[in-house]
Amino acid sequence: MLSFNDALSTVLGHVARLEPARVPLAEAVGLVLAEDVVSDVDMPPFNKSAMDGYAVMAADLARVPCILRVVEEVPAGTLPKRRLRPGECARVMTGAPVPKGADTVVRQEDTAPGLSGDEVRILKEVPHGSNVCLKAEDVACGDVVLKAGRVVGPLDVPVLAACGCVNVPAFRRPAVAVLSTGNEVVPPDERPAGGQIRDANAPYVAARLRLLGVEPRVLGVAPDAPKRLRAALARGMDCDALVVSGGVSTGDYDLVPAMLRDLGAELFFESVAMQPGRPTVFGRCGDAAVFGLPGNPVSVLVATELFVVPALKAMMGYAQVHPPRRRARLLQAAKHRPGRLAHLPAAMSEEADGWAVRPLPYHGSAHIHALIGANCLIVLPPDVAEVAAGVCVEVVQLPGNP
Ligand code: AMP
Ligand code: MG
Repeated sequence: MLSFNDALSTVLGHVARLEPARVPLAEAVGLVLAEDVVSDVDMPPFNKSAMDGYAVMAADLARVPCILRVVEEVPAGTLPKRRLRPGECARVMTGAPVPKGADTVVRQEDTAPGLSGDEVRILKEVPHGSNVCLKAEDVACGDVVLKAGRVVGPLDVPVLAACGCVNVPAFRRPAVAVLSTGNEVVPPDERPAGGQIRDANAPYVAARLRLLGVEPRVLGVAPDAPKRLRAALARGMDCDALVVSGGVSTGDYDLVPAMLRDLGAELFFESVAMQPGRPTVFGRCGDAAVFGLPGNPVSVLVATELFVVPALKAMMGYAQVHPPRRRARLLQAAKHRPGRLAHLPAAMSEEADGWAVRPLPYHGSAHIHALIGANCLIVLPPDVAEVAAGVCVEVVQLPGNP
């Protein structure tokens, strides 16, 4: 059977980075920049007052208190009309350009009204250059502010906006179709009748994709009936990826691999030496990468996190595609049936002496209750049946759950 690592290499070897696009700034968080972003302006664009107060020539403040003549008022958004001369000052507001000749701003709080309306009394000594942000001291026109390859984060948005980069050059998001299959599976808004269960998988995969910023095309539930299943699968083939759950193992009604082949897919593997997730299928059909995940919800979680998300991140141009892993000390023994690489739902926490992890009660991939409280997966090697409490193990961090 194919090892997990070989399966992962196969997946990543068969997906390519998608083409760059211009993405509206409001939709750019989570995407990878395809080009350097350069500022088209100086920031600040002029010598700017950082305070409400008076723009002065520092040389006039050699002795304080002193009186200066107020020659104009400059609110933010306007330009000063004239250059200051010795003995003069301008009333300025935060964000306003300081007039030529001025080199310092005295805060309002450090002044008092003069004797007449056009005079102000400066009460305090203020060092030269105080409260003035110099033109281009932050960013100069032509500076690279964000480099190609960077994943756009929320803090990059004000930078991009200030630089006028409203259509962000980034590798585009994949279009991803999500399909659940099974005669027994009904949409979650229906009450299951005899023999039926609700679809837990498509809502999960869709939610996970949204965390990645990918809006899924949810295709609903297809029955284990060749014609209808084939038609449903075909609807996902014009996407960049199709994630289908159920119907991939060896039961009489597990028709997904055959239907995928019938549609022209090339399947690169149909089982992986891992538990859960053994019957995971991966292939390509035209431009679509196709993932067939075993129907049990914990299998879907594991295969989505370890195969689907890394593949989608590779399509999006991420340099780092794998979920974060760390080592943590077992608070309780972890066991599994040896033979395949295991991923066990668990809860990790940061304790005074480092990261610790507790395996959750788990009796197999259908055990949806094990997902409550899980925030990671404990990795147990194929040849290890049990690891004792106190020993450090590898864990794969899951996103979203505290
Ligand atoms: P399969 O992979 O089709 O053999 O399904 C394995 C198990 O997962 C069966 O018990 C199915 O009822 C269950 N299952 C399949 N699809 C879903 C789903 N969308 N939501 C919850 N359970 C499912
Ligand atoms: Mg089934």
